[in-house]
Amino acid sequence: MPELPEVETIARGVDARVRGDRILEAWFGSHREPFKTPSLKQARGLDGRTILAVRRSGKHIVFDLSGPAGAQWIVHLGMTGRLLVTTPDGPVAPHTHARLTLGSGRELRFVDPRRFGRLEFRDLARGEGFAGPGAEPLIIEKADFAKLFRGRRLPIKAALLNQTLLSGVGNIYADESLFRAGIRPRKAAGRLTAAELERLRLALRDVLLHAIRLGGSSVSDYVDADGVRGFFQLEHCVYQRGGEPCRKCGTLIRRIVVGGRSTHYCPHCQK
Ligand SMILES: [Zn+2]
Repeated sequence: MPELPEVETIARGVDARVRGDRILEAWFGSHREPFKTPSLKQARGLDGRTILAVRRSGKHIVFDLSGPAGAQWIVHLGMTGRLLVTTPDGPVAPHTHARLTLGSGRELRFVDPRRFGRLEFRDLARGEGFAGPGAEPLIIEKADFAKLFRGRRLPIKAALLNQTLLSGVGNIYADESLFRAGIRPRKAAGRLTAAELERLRLALRDVLLHAIRLGGSSVSDYVDADGVRGFFQLEHCVYQRGGEPCRKCGTLIRRIVVGGRSTHYCPHCQK
């Protein structure tokens, strides 16, 4: 499942390739699952629009489109979804569910073998633009971040993963940011001190930005036919390192389950 930094990297890569391009024609496959908006409605909606920008919102990729009131094409990659920018004669991969013919002569394709991805069209003349339910972890300010967790009894790890609080934080970055902030994953969210919350906010932002920076160099792998191959692997401090020595202190990393999710921490470095 792509995490926030991967989605950000993909959005930037696609933006660099298709911004300003016009959608001449849209084709959609016959499997119903990927279409949050019926495919015929999407095809009609996309026809003739210009792609003004492509950006990330939470773990979604939002295409801002031209129009009287504007429109949006919203892509969620699910587990295995990919966006490819290719020439029209490029071989069509199995499990291609959407092909947009672009004015530049290229094609934007959505490929998703497991079909957990979702495509949605929104005409902003008829409804609201897309916004994730939670706050954006890269831009949230100190006071707003602290407010998210006030009075909450659930473990901080579970709170970080709660998409109605923060948008797009997944298991890897929750574990890694808690390690960097020196906070135990089971600690009740509402019991974190102001100093701990601020350490956590900065650690989360740093971990995500670091991953985005590293990922930027492999953007081309993402949008070429080879898909996700080659996306960097952050050198994890704790994530999936249960039983291995902590990189800081040598104590063995512990693996526990919090809120049904596998969780990793250093019992010495995290209090
Ligand atoms: Zn340690």
